[in-house]
Amino acid sequence: MNGHTLLPGSCSPNGDVQQTTLGVMGGGQLGRMFVQAAQSMGYYTVVLDPDVISPAGLVSHYHIQTDYLDQQGLAQLMQRCAAITTEFENVPAPALVTLGAARPTAPGADAVAIAQDRIKEKAHLSRSGVPVAPYAVIESADQLSAVPDQLLPGILKTARLGYDGKGQVRVDNRDELASAWEQLKLVPCVLEKMLPLAAECSVIVARGANGDCVHFPPQLNQHRQGILAVTQVYEENLPLALIDKAVTATKSIADELHYVGVLCVEFFVLEGGSPEQVSLGDLVVNEMAPRPHNSGHYTLDACDVSQFELQVRTLAGLPLTQPRQHSAAVMLNLLGELWVDGVTPCWDQVLALPGVHLHLYGKLKASRGRKMGHLTVTASSADAANAVALQVASLLGIEAF
Ligand code: ATP
Ligand code: MG
Repeated sequence: MNGHTLLPGSCSPNGDVQQTTLGVMGGGQLGRMFVQAAQSMGYYTVVLDPDVISPAGLVSHYHIQTDYLDQQGLAQLMQRCAAITTEFENVPAPALVTLGAARPTAPGADAVAIAQDRIKEKAHLSRSGVPVAPYAVIESADQLSAVPDQLLPGILKTARLGYDGKGQVRVDNRDELASAWEQLKLVPCVLEKMLPLAAECSVIVARGANGDCVHFPPQLNQHRQGILAVTQVYEENLPLALIDKAVTATKSIADELHYVGVLCVEFFVLEGGSPEQVSLGDLVVNEMAPRPHNSGHYTLDACDVSQFELQVRTLAGLPLTQPRQHSAAVMLNLLGELWVDGVTPCWDQVLALPGVHLHLYGKLKASRGRKMGHLTVTASSADAANAVALQVASLLGIEAF
């Protein structure tokens, strides 16, 4: 994507709405929050998503309801928009190639193609000199039997289309590995060594077409059953040396990819390093997401510019400013199990607590593990944010963290 600027504001001098319309591939919650950020800056929005009702489709000015590879749908999107982004990494890369040929499209098909395939992603990261978990590619029975013992116990992950821990099976030995591969329908996979994790963190950067790159402070993340549950962001959530390393690695990954847009890199912090002495190898990259990330939702309420506004800015070629976090923040994901038997959770009690910001995504059906919304607790100190978040968790029946 080369340099262009699409100034915000709904009326262009010649009344050309297309020039102030931004498009997004995908209608999930990330698309919804992108649409909301774009609209608040005066842009029109278009969402392309196959579902009749989707979180982003519900709030966008236009919704094109077709499959991601539908040529007519893509043509309509290009006709309506001046620039196009994506909200999830499983948008087929060929669709982005088509769009990118006609409109500024960020992130580009190349970067998305790498991020949506664990085999390509790990090869790319290893080439860039960024440590990843020890792994083996499994695409054939020969590769399955050649797996070295050191990778077990491990996690078998499908190369493509996994999210929220789906498409992953934990395996202790070779027999389990073989049946896990069958369970995953013998599709291309990677086997990753199960690592002893002291913590998990992520870094979100926004990079413009001119190479300018800004970052948010690293997020400390807790996952449960492979799904992000809690994110804590405040000073000293992680040792300083580790923060520096994670930010530097993320920026270099973005530079290597000539990335334009918002990129999140998830890291494992391995057991063994002490907070005072962080040695090389303590931090390994888990994976990257070529889009805003669940761990960055707190930026809506705790930072002067959110990850979604930065997505808009990168797409529109607007200046990027280094985000400033003004409040300590704890984010809790709100999963479908909170709507037990269809009963609405006690939001009235939750919202009576100070600094609670509730975000629901407009999903009509709750199911176990489905991300229905999130809430961020902001406060002037880490202790205060954690204390309120623990009260919220207890009111909602979320396991304490
Ligand atoms: P996402 O929703 O982030 O896309 P995903 O389905 O791609 O998730 P991963 O990020 O690969 O899944 O793994 C989910 C979680 O499982 C990790 O955050 C971590 O808690 C655990 N996990 C994954 N791989 C390993 C590993 N090699 N060693 C230890 N724990 C792991
Ligand atoms: Mg992940």
